[in-house]
Amino acid sequence: MTLKGLMQDSQLNIGSIFDRLRTIYSDSQIISPERRMSYGEFAERVLRLATVLRDLGVGPGDRVGSFAFNSARHLELYYAVPLIGAVLHTINVRLSSEQIVYIVDHAEDAVVFYDGVVSERIEELAPQFSTVRRLIAMGEGPADLGHDDQDSLIAGASPAVDLPDVDENAACGLCYTSGTTGMPKGVLYSHRAQWLHAMSFNMADHMGLTQMDRVLPVVPLFHAAGWGIPYAAPFTGADLVFHGPDNSPGTVGKVIDEEGVTIAAGVPTVWKELLPLLRSGDVKAASLNRLMVGGAAVPRSLIEAYEGFDVDLIQAWGMTETSPLVCLSRPRRHHRGLSNDELLDVRAKTGTIFSGIEMRICASDGSVVEWDGKQVGEIEVRGPWIAAAYYEDETSDDKFHDGWLRTGDMATVEPDGYFKIVDRAKDLVKSGGEWISSVDLEGALLAHPQVRDAAVVGVPSKKWDERPVAIIVADGAGIPTLESLRDFLAPSFPKWWLPDDVVIVEEIPKTSVGKIDKKTIRVQLADVELP
Ligand code: AMP
Repeated sequence: MTLKGLMQDSQLNIGSIFDRLRTIYSDSQIISPERRMSYGEFAERVLRLATVLRDLGVGPGDRVGSFAFNSARHLELYYAVPLIGAVLHTINVRLSSEQIVYIVDHAEDAVVFYDGVVSERIEELAPQFSTVRRLIAMGEGPADLGHDDQDSLIAGASPAVDLPDVDENAACGLCYTSGTTGMPKGVLYSHRAQWLHAMSFNMADHMGLTQMDRVLPVVPLFHAAGWGIPYAAPFTGADLVFHGPDNSPGTVGKVIDEEGVTIAAGVPTVWKELLPLLRSGDVKAASLNRLMVGGAAVPRSLIEAYEGFDVDLIQAWGMTETSPLVCLSRPRRHHRGLSNDELLDVRAKTGTIFSGIEMRICASDGSVVEWDGKQVGEIEVRGPWIAAAYYEDETSDDKFHDGWLRTGDMATVEPDGYFKIVDRAKDLVKSGGEWISSVDLEGALLAHPQVRDAAVVGVPSKKWDERPVAIIVADGAGIPTLESLRDFLAPSFPKWWLPDDVVIVEEIPKTSVGKIDKKTIRVQLADVELP
């Protein structure tokens, strides 16, 4: 029986976020290397860009690529493309040429907008794209390829007036995974997923942005929907600040100080590298009150270091497949009364799953594991902003389990649902039938006074199957020996967890989105003989 007299059926689409930023928050600010403007001025440019896209023949469902760093121009695409019902494919600028050509072809991008800064790269890649009809430059760069430019096209267009009320279940964005194994896989975001994600992101116990905030996403807009900030910040009227292509601590610190940033987001490495500038006083970060840090496990020592500068470092967990955020580490009611040391332990865990998303952990046989804080299992998640499949890909069914997404992350969960990722399933070191968390060892090693950067991988051992080896970048204050590293770790770990060897390197290889590249490290260590 259908009951009569129900709620209105309005669409949870990007258009409704846009209408709000255009009217209610029209005086909020966007600050970018190329220009500063109000949300009102931004909205006018977006509407003109919508006309430009239509004039280029882009229609509902068509894919438009962006090959760009963080800027207001890039944000304009985040709105103009979905507003006309098309799909923004954010291309990771740091992928290999082979991967970029593959994803542009796989997505069948019709038009690609590229940052002037990477014009030379586009000059090399464009002849290999098979579906791209038009290339549009976003500002000037080292090579002038003679393409139309986003700014001049916007200047010459009139604002679109007849925008559709796009179905919330239509696609608005497409992002490929960073592809550490095999070719990248596409994740197709719906309007509804991004809308609900923005809403949950802004709960007070989650990131809770407000109109008074100034948000700096250091995380690239091409990585996992820029961790959700392009829609979540305008949702509340928070100002947005973009720093351009340069991620160096000097630039990030300068932008934070000059623009009065209150919240910034990025991978742990960025914030680790900013610390010396904070310690020397070159960066004051007086306005900064929160950092959202994710993409990799956050070392406890980093959270503690930022406490010294009155910055609340909040660990975030998510994936390209989860739109992107599903968890933040925020202490709960029953953590009240803990000592600061105990609270640091809590904050160094991964956190509580977002309202709106379900999680469970499963053993290798697929059975669901109890939340007892001890047993380790793979996290599986389910909900309205979790991928149900990969885009145009029938080969990845093993990533889904009875309607749940298998994350590949192994965790323990406390009875209260607070969980801790112990490792990626493929990075756990399996030693003598037991596992060792490379993540925990790395986090602890980073607190050693002679260690600037650290990675731990398992190398094959005849006796134990695998044993942990530490890869260390020394911090200038001498080179740490294996013995000193083991002594340093010994109070916190069982003896059999301590690394069997250490390799000192100049730099730890990182992936295109700044994570430790264990695949490359394993290749580099192929000839290491354990002592
Ligand atoms: P990506 O899709 O490139 O964003 O990568 C997602 C993966 O990054 C996750 O499956 C985790 O392995 C890792 N990751 C992200 N955030 C965290 C975190 N807070 N702690 C541990 N691992 C994380």
